[in-house]
Amino acid sequence: MTTEIYLDGNATTAVLPAAIDAAIDAMGRRFGNPSSTHATGLQAKAMLDQARACAARLLGVGAGRLMFNSGATEGIQTSVLSALVAVRERRARGEAVGDLLVYGATEHKAVPESLAHWNRLLGLNLTLHKLPVDGDGAHDLAHLRHVAGSAALICTMAANNETGVVSDLAGIEAVIRETGTAAYWLVDCVQALGKLSLELAATRIDYAPFSGHKLYAPKGVGMLYVRAGAPFTPLVMGGGQESGQRSGTENMAGIAALGVVLAALERGDTFRTHDELWGFRARLADSLRAALPGVVFNNPFDKALPTTLNFSVPGLSSRELMDVFDAAQVRVSAGSACSSAKAAPSYVLDAMGVPLWRSAGAIRMSFGPLADEATISAACARIERCGAALRAACLIPSERAAVPHDGLLQLGVEGACCWLVLDAASSSCVVIDPLPEMTARIASYVRCQNYRVLAVAGTSAGAGRQPLIEALGGHYVAGPVDQYGWPAAARALTLENGAAATAIDVGAQVLAGMSAGADASRAYLLGTVDGGRLPASAVRFAFSAGPLDEATRAAASAQTLLCPTRDDHNQFCASMTQHSAAILTAEAQRAPADMQLDSAELDEFLRAHPEALLIDVREPYEFAATAAPGPGGRAARSVPLSQIAGQAAEWLRGEQRPLVFFCRSGNRSMKATQCLRRLGHQQSYSLSGGLALAA
Ligand code: PLP
Repeated sequence: MTTEIYLDGNATTAVLPAAIDAAIDAMGRRFGNPSSTHATGLQAKAMLDQARACAARLLGVGAGRLMFNSGATEGIQTSVLSALVAVRERRARGEAVGDLLVYGATEHKAVPESLAHWNRLLGLNLTLHKLPVDGDGAHDLAHLRHVAGSAALICTMAANNETGVVSDLAGIEAVIRETGTAAYWLVDCVQALGKLSLELAATRIDYAPFSGHKLYAPKGVGMLYVRAGAPFTPLVMGGGQESGQRSGTENMAGIAALGVVLAALERGDTFRTHDELWGFRARLADSLRAALPGVVFNNPFDKALPTTLNFSVPGLSSRELMDVFDAAQVRVSAGSACSSAKAAPSYVLDAMGVPLWRSAGAIRMSFGPLADEATISAACARIERCGAALRAACLIPSERAAVPHDGLLQLGVEGACCWLVLDAASSSCVVIDPLPEMTARIASYVRCQNYRVLAVAGTSAGAGRQPLIEALGGHYVAGPVDQYGWPAAARALTLENGAAATAIDVGAQVLAGMSAGADASRAYLLGTVDGGRLPASAVRFAFSAGPLDEATRAAASAQTLLCPTRDDHNQFCASMTQHSAAILTAEAQRAPADMQLDSAELDEFLRAHPEALLIDVREPYEFAATAAPGPGGRAARSVPLSQIAGQAAEWLRGEQRPLVFFCRSGNRSMKATQCLRRLGHQQSYSLSGGLALAA
């Protein structure tokens, strides 16, 4: 079984085994409440004091405060609240206070969101002001110099979570000192812990929040440093724990674990050196360059933590990259928040002025200072595997001939979709209703497969096909066409109902263009000719923008599948017997329990139905990147969602074998299951929770 390679250390880390032991001890043998005065409590208190003392030495807090809390988000709240309450008091005393809340453009959302929240709650009416960064992610110090005098609070992170870019804290401090601003200074130190040395009391920093789970301690524990003399207002009041600075019985398991991590940092015998980490990153970067031609790194390595890479690959979305890495069991994250269809650009990369395609397609690969040689070598091998999988699927340019594709391919963008009718034997294809967003994708696919494109046809007249034709170059079989892009040379074909159509051969099949209906839209029928005619029963697919008109319906049969050029609800295709509006409108897509199997039920099901087919509906590059594709290592067939419509016709024909669809999470397989059930295949199921939860 392939093991997971976790390269998402900036999101969270596994807990250090010694820290797990310490947490267990704090919940077991030493479960005491540090506020109790009996011996059990005193033992807990001793551990708490020890952890704090270690942190204080390590961070150089001097006479400043250092309290334990739930993590950096809480630390940021406490800092912002403390600073803003002080600003309000100073203002009430008639002192001149700045009216800007200045924050770095690449700060974690916790900072601007907290600023806006407390500014509103305290009724201060200060103005949030974004401090720009340059192309390398460095704060614009000239801009800071310009606004520092008007600032009430300045927030700048020590290192960025998406790019690892290390801030010039000395430069920021120099500006703060030079301008003599009375602004408070918050530095989010989350990503710096264990990676940068910090001597906090020797700086002008007023507030520095930390989080345990970014450095091998559990989630839900963190620390906040407050400079001696900096204003402080508790966020949580109650029993007076943490010297009244943060009430609530301490998270002793978390603190014990964090204490062990801090002690390891202090001893210096557990974590890798910067040089070793630099070496690891260089090897990962080399593998990425070799596997993914054209890869661009979005973070300047010489100005970033050695544990972070942020990259984009031309022609690939972050969703696709995430999926292929996840299939190869390499856990990375999208450098940007992304929805399933369209990636939202990363505000961090946007602030650095990175072009949109890179900002929307970014991947962050990050590891912690515990990373080891074996993991990095294994990661490099898997990166190579991902590159090969993407090449075979024609998603990145390939010298070698890719695996030939056959059948139907559905390519969608936000509900609109286009269809490719592919014939591997004759290396030819037809594109129906190409979408402008898909031009580059279709062109590189056609080039990689070395297909001849016989027609770029539309269900409506005019518009939108020319860019694809130009991008296809010599792969497009040029010739006169009508306003639907349909070749003038298409031959006449008689349909079973006697109606006339014109047709082109796509390998052994014909694609017949039906004359435009009353709404001037045209439909296309794909089937196999028999004796010079296209019998209705041999029409397998009908492509149309909306419901078929009467003449086209009459030329097809009950077995014909309707392939719409709008598919807002991932229905892929519909049967002729369904009300045609069902293609276009949402139906109640509830997931009846009987459509899903969990992994225990799957074992039972497969024992009872040895003839069942296991179908992987992930994209071909995910299938290819997976070492053991099926749940539990079983053999499975790859039929990606984009090819479900083409395959559905086969599954529906003759005696129906049970189908069990699976994907990573159970989402895509549920869509395939619903499609097949709707088409009348009652023995189709989805593996709930997908490969992620499969044994
Ligand atoms: N600041 C930065 C830079 C982070 O990376 C994170 C974690 O995502 C946070 C703040 C929030 O930390 P926590 O999860 O401890 O609340």
